[in-house]
Amino acid sequence: MRGIQRKPPFPYGDTLCVPLEDVVEFRQTSGTTGQPVYQADTWQDWEWWAESWAYILWAQGYRPCDRVFLPFGYNVFVAFWAGHYAVEKIGAEIVPGGVLDTQARILKIQELQCTAMMATPTYVLGMADTAKKMGIDPRLLSIRRITCAGEPGASIPATKKRMEDAWNAKVFDHAGATEIGAWSFECADQTGGLHVNEAFFLVEIQDVDTGEYIEEPGRRGKMIITALDRQAQPCVRFDSKDLIEWAPDPCSCGRTFRMIKGGVVGRSDDITKVKGVLLSPSAIEEVVRGMDGLADEFEVIVDKVGDIDRITLKIEIVKGREDERPRLEATLKDQLRLNTNLGYNLEFHDYGTLPRYDVKAKRFKDLREKHCMEKS
Ligand SMILES: [Zn+2]
Repeated sequence: MRGIQRKPPFPYGDTLCVPLEDVVEFRQTSGTTGQPVYQADTWQDWEWWAESWAYILWAQGYRPCDRVFLPFGYNVFVAFWAGHYAVEKIGAEIVPGGVLDTQARILKIQELQCTAMMATPTYVLGMADTAKKMGIDPRLLSIRRITCAGEPGASIPATKKRMEDAWNAKVFDHAGATEIGAWSFECADQTGGLHVNEAFFLVEIQDVDTGEYIEEPGRRGKMIITALDRQAQPCVRFDSKDLIEWAPDPCSCGRTFRMIKGGVVGRSDDITKVKGVLLSPSAIEEVVRGMDGLADEFEVIVDKVGDIDRITLKIEIVKGREDERPRLEATLKDQLRLNTNLGYNLEFHDYGTLPRYDVKAKRFKDLREKHCMEKS
């Protein structure tokens, strides 16, 4: 797509399927894997975005009585923009927390008694941390519903539990992408998966090796997705590289939109081979965030010592529990081996010394390749 966009008309190239003067909105991908892709939308597309997000919010229990706080930097990334318009569309109230810093956002939530918010899992946990430092218990704020996107965290049970405990709120996952749209959502029943937003998207699952289409539940493959009725830059059978599988049963909520079991479990280009074993960063996250006594932040570095792969896992111990380190170290080693089949070099750091991220975290670093690849 980047190649096609170098051709005229500037800046969308051949990806544009409408006259340039019909474009009313510019956005771009976050560019985590290189040069961003530009995204054009017509006014009809923009209404389509808002409508598809309205399905998400309503399914998660948002209602006109909600006051929704949006703590993200409104800019060229699509992020929660369509969520903003969907809040209006369902008749709820939106509070745009744009350029405020984290402390000001927390004070605004407190002042206005906001009932819901949308953010990346990294930011949801970071905000709770900041609130505590300000002497405000996030559990006592009025947020009862949080919609997450941008990272898989809300579908990783241990991370979801940390967020729900920190805010005393229900946390819901949503997976979407700039080039595609808001293609999935977790519903209020929280049955351990995502509904495909089938009013707007056709999702197919393809075997990564053979390209065969997978219909049966329980077999993992990559998602091939088509956005229905998107006009300016439509994607037909787009290879999202997201790894998913069909759930065996329909959801208890009664919606007939198909279910993806366990959400997006990873990206086909995120899964790395270490010592010949397939390693998914979300498997490490599930272990670390599932351990009481470890802080939210962690970092994984894969490098080589001579010819041998080495994985270093940096973690922090929660303040005041440093003397539990021997027990934590032993349990962590066992759990990691059990869940990922690999041995780790564990590095314990003082609480608050690992990097903190505002939006998408870069916790996985593979230094074995010539050009250092950073994956979120
Ligand atoms: Zn459901």
